[in-house]
Amino acid sequence: MIDAPPRTRDTLPTPDTLLRRREQVVGDVARQAFIDDLHPLCGVVDLDTLDELMRSLSQAYPASMPALHTIAAKAITLRPVLTRFAQAGFGCEVASPGELQLALAAGFPAEHIVFDSPAKTATEIEQALALGISFNIDNFEELARVDQAVARVGGHRSVIGMRLNPQTGAGAIGAMSTATSTSKFGIGLADHRETVIAAFATRPWLTQLHVHSGSQGLSLEHAAEGVRLITDLAADITARTGHQQVRRIDIGGGLPVNFSSDDIVPTFADHRAVLERMVPELFDGTYGLVTEFGRALTAKAGTIVARVEYTKVTGGRQIAITHAGVQVATRTIFGPGEWPLRIEVYDAQGRHRAEQSQLQDIAGPACFTGDMLAVGRELPLVHQGDLVAVPDTGGYYFSTHFSYNALPRPAVYAVETDPDGGRRWSLVRRAQTIEQIVTEAGEPSLVPLPIRPCD
Ligand SMILES: *Cc1c(COP(=O)(O)O)cnc(C)c1O
Repeated sequence: MIDAPPRTRDTLPTPDTLLRRREQVVGDVARQAFIDDLHPLCGVVDLDTLDELMRSLSQAYPASMPALHTIAAKAITLRPVLTRFAQAGFGCEVASPGELQLALAAGFPAEHIVFDSPAKTATEIEQALALGISFNIDNFEELARVDQAVARVGGHRSVIGMRLNPQTGAGAIGAMSTATSTSKFGIGLADHRETVIAAFATRPWLTQLHVHSGSQGLSLEHAAEGVRLITDLAADITARTGHQQVRRIDIGGGLPVNFSSDDIVPTFADHRAVLERMVPELFDGTYGLVTEFGRALTAKAGTIVARVEYTKVTGGRQIAITHAGVQVATRTIFGPGEWPLRIEVYDAQGRHRAEQSQLQDIAGPACFTGDMLAVGRELPLVHQGDLVAVPDTGGYYFSTHFSYNALPRPAVYAVETDPDGGRRWSLVRRAQTIEQIVTEAGEPSLVPLPIRPCD
């Protein structure tokens, strides 16, 4: 029997707490003059909320259960924030050489890093083996390459797994669904089940199964069905090899986030309850567990704050031109239907505006018509010099900068409650400077290259 799950809802901030924290954040941003002509927007990570989200995940699982909870680096490539995850005992899921080096620099021990790129080069595979980093093989050609690398390296400490696509179908957001029958990720379970079992039977070093079947727009049951299927596969591998070869099940991430209010739903405890109902053997001590959440661990902890430069009326519509657009809210700008964000209006002193609402458009600064944070939204009338806050932007919005129009990456700050109850601010990432943008735009002039002579 497993221990009774603690009531994790109690450790999560209430909607009132999240709103109060955000109002304090915008008030502080205004008072401390983080925003000026050179820096008309910034990001803020509330570390109290982040810590509470981390704790709610850890506490959703019984302490007796061997679990490695990793943060998906791509959701929040901010080094000191990743260090906070490392210090809390989290691991890190990475998908590129850059994310891998960032995870090491942030202080994650190699055995707490899981490397999941679908396009690992031979060099990256050998490096993972040399460092003892766990990784999941994406396809049979990669398996052949890992065979060679394992033979060359001899002894290694990496936990090596295989990524399966459970082929359970799409969710509400097609581009985000990883488990369609033709998704690019992993080996199709329905297509290749027997080959996968045979691959494990001849390779004792294959000891992990991986599935990332959840995503925004997908039910918890649908995602758990993927875990159900690979846990059945693990049992079939045991039956074939006569011993417990699969020691860890990596269930990926993909817990959806509620972007429409300050309610944190579903919770990690909700997710665990569905898993426990549908895949009870995951909790009976047979397997170690790896999780790889990104958005659900970070979104509610982040806020974008941007200045309103101008307002105008066009075609009868109130339009506010702000400094938060496609450079920082890339996914929302390109997929406003799938990734809507809330907007809050504050005056220049950072006081929450609460006047009667009217229909308005909130635009970004970029030179294309679609650069709109919100269209036809009921909001208190926005004035020149106001601040707009964009809640729920802690996941992906500070790691997915889009350099269109050479708009700089904004600074990101962090705030937390210090022991005497005050608020402590720190710098997470400096704003990209205009000088850096010019440097990264290329060489001062064309650099002649030597031509290789023909033989
Ligand atoms: C992106 C990704 C994650 C994190 O997904 P979230 O939706 O942010 O939780 C986890 N695992 C893999 C393999 C991923 O590609």
